[in-house]
Amino acid sequence: MPLSVARVLPGRAGKIIVVCAISSVCAAYLLSHDHTARTEDPDVSLVSKDSAKPAAASPAVPAATSPPATKPPAFTVKHASIEHSFAAAAKAMGVDPATTAILTRAFRGELNFSRDLRSGDSVSAVFDESGDGAAESEPLAVRIVRGGTTHDVFLHKDLRGKPFYYSKDGASTRPSFERYPLEFTRVSSGFSLHRLDPVLHRWQSHDGVDLAAPAGTPVHATARGVVRFIGRQTGYGKVVVIQNPPPYSTTFAHLSRFAKGLRRGSRVSRDQVIGYVGETGWATGPHLHYEVHVNNVPRDPLTVELPPKTPLRADEMPQFKARVAELTALL
Ligand SMILES: [Zn+2]
Repeated sequence: MPLSVARVLPGRAGKIIVVCAISSVCAAYLLSHDHTARTEDPDVSLVSKDSAKPAAASPAVPAATSPPATKPPAFTVKHASIEHSFAAAAKAMGVDPATTAILTRAFRGELNFSRDLRSGDSVSAVFDESGDGAAESEPLAVRIVRGGTTHDVFLHKDLRGKPFYYSKDGASTRPSFERYPLEFTRVSSGFSLHRLDPVLHRWQSHDGVDLAAPAGTPVHATARGVVRFIGRQTGYGKVVVIQNPPPYSTTFAHLSRFAKGLRRGSRVSRDQVIGYVGETGWATGPHLHYEVHVNNVPRDPLTVELPPKTPLRADEMPQFKARVAELTALL
C-alpha cells in the first residue's frame, strides 16, 4: 500500500494546486482515535500512524459495566502547498470562505499573508470527520510552514458556539485591539511630529500613519466602539472617528465610501467593515490615514501599547491542551 497519494485539485485561474506531496506520509489520511485505518474513501491512501504497534490490551472491565459506545473522533489531515495565496490553498482543502477569513485574521499577528508567504510554503489542516459533515469545512487545527518555521492555530468555540483560533498555549491569536485596520501593501508615511506635507508643502505634524492599499480595500474597526463622527472634513476627506473602550479612539481618513448603514452613534465590533480605501481629501494616492488617540493624544499606531490578548479561561485550559497535543501529533 502506498504511503502517500497526491490529490490534484483545480485551483484558481487554471493553476493546479497539489494537495499533499509534501511529506512522505500524509495525503489526507484518516486516523480514528484508536489508530485504526478506515476505508470509506477509496481514493485516499489510508495510513495508520503506528499500525505496526500492537493494539493496546483492553482493560479488564466487564462488558456489562462499560459506558455506552460513542463514536470515536476520526480526523482527516490535508496538506496543500501555497502556490499563490493562503486563501486558494485553504479552498483546495475544502475550508469555507468564512472560516478562511477567520484564519487569515488569526494568523495576522504572526504573518502578513500578502508579504510573508512564498511559493513553496505549505499548509496542513486537521478536520473532524466524525460528525454529520457540518464541521468538515472548519479545521480543528491549521499549520503554516513558512521556510523553516511553523505557525499553528487551534479551534476553540465559546459558549455561544462562536469559533476562535488560539495558539497552542491557549493565548488568543487575536488581540481585542488589532494593530492594523486593513491588508496594506506598505506604510507610505509614518507618524511624526514634524514632516513636510506633500500637498500643502509646509512642515506640520502627521498624527497617524498612511497605509497604502488599492482603492476599495475594506477598512475594519480595530476594536469595538461607537461611531463618534462620520462625514467629510477638510483634509481628511471622508472620515470615521470611533470611540473605543477608554482610553482609546481611532480615526480612519481619505475613505472612498462608508459602510452601508453606518451612522453617528452606531455600535461597531472589532473587524467590522466601516468603509473602503480611497483618496478623498488631501491625499496623493489611495491610502488609509489611520490615527490612534490615547486620552485624546495622538500616538504612533505602529508602536502604541494596545490592550493585551485575552487567553482562554483557566478552567478551559486542561481540555484545550489535551486537544492541542492530540492534534499537533497529526499536523
Ligand atoms: Zn496621513
